[in-house]
Amino acid sequence: MNPAAAMAPGTPLTPRLVAEGLAVAFDGRTVLGDASLAVRPGAIAVLEGPSGCGKSTFLRMLAGLTEPLRGRRLLDGEDALAMRPEVWRRRVAYVFQQPPMFDGTVADNLRAGPKLAGRSLAKADVEALARRVGLDAALLDRAARSLSGGEQMRVAIARALANDPGVLLLDEPTAALDPASAATVLGLVRDLAGEGVSVVVVTHSREHAEALGGTRYVVADGRIDPRPEDPCTP
Ligand code: ADP
Ligand code: MG
Repeated sequence: MNPAAAMAPGTPLTPRLVAEGLAVAFDGRTVLGDASLAVRPGAIAVLEGPSGCGKSTFLRMLAGLTEPLRGRRLLDGEDALAMRPEVWRRRVAYVFQQPPMFDGTVADNLRAGPKLAGRSLAKADVEALARRVGLDAALLDRAARSLSGGEQMRVAIARALANDPGVLLLDEPTAALDPASAATVLGLVRDLAGEGVSVVVVTHSREHAEALGGTRYVVADGRIDPRPEDPCTP
């Protein structure tokens, strides 16, 4: 059980995930120069910004898949460099933009992550995961690749939750979905935050950013800044 799920009002609001002054360059070109972000347990940080500004790169650094040139990443106060990379990656789960489904059934997909960690999920655990993301148990025996886009995104999120991470990173999870599927995924993200998971979501859609109800940031000029108040909204 995730201890943050039982977080009572008044619990100290120490950040779960902190990124401090992260920098990354590709082929000598700086993409992020000084990127910082802090996310509390159960909070949603929404990152917006033009294509190519480094949003996916930032998530990959948070996920422990790309190493920063400078800066540090902390999880519950513990530095990424002091933790085994596979432990960090289990605790900070990352869902790719258009995540590929693995061969086999939905249940096989949900079992994949724990299996890598040497753990085999019982049928009841698989069913609980499916329930957690609103996937009908009847889908568990279907070939994962035969599911709709929205269902596949929920499988990807369930797969990411299988190791019970404290942080969930989502790269444009609604970009390829029809409006109804996008709405269910946005609702799921809010529910997961309600359970205490810290979520960082990249989106291009202003409407989806608003629907998430989190704290909004803009990625630009190699930095991450709180989104300025919109003068048009009351
Ligand atoms: P966003 O997700 O905001 O659209 P990305 O983080 O994917 O942007 O990319 C930011 C910039 O870094 C882009 O110019 C992209 O071409 C470049 N980039 C990203 N990953 C690599 C890589 N592995 N090698 C070289 N350049 C990269
Ligand atoms: Mg991207």
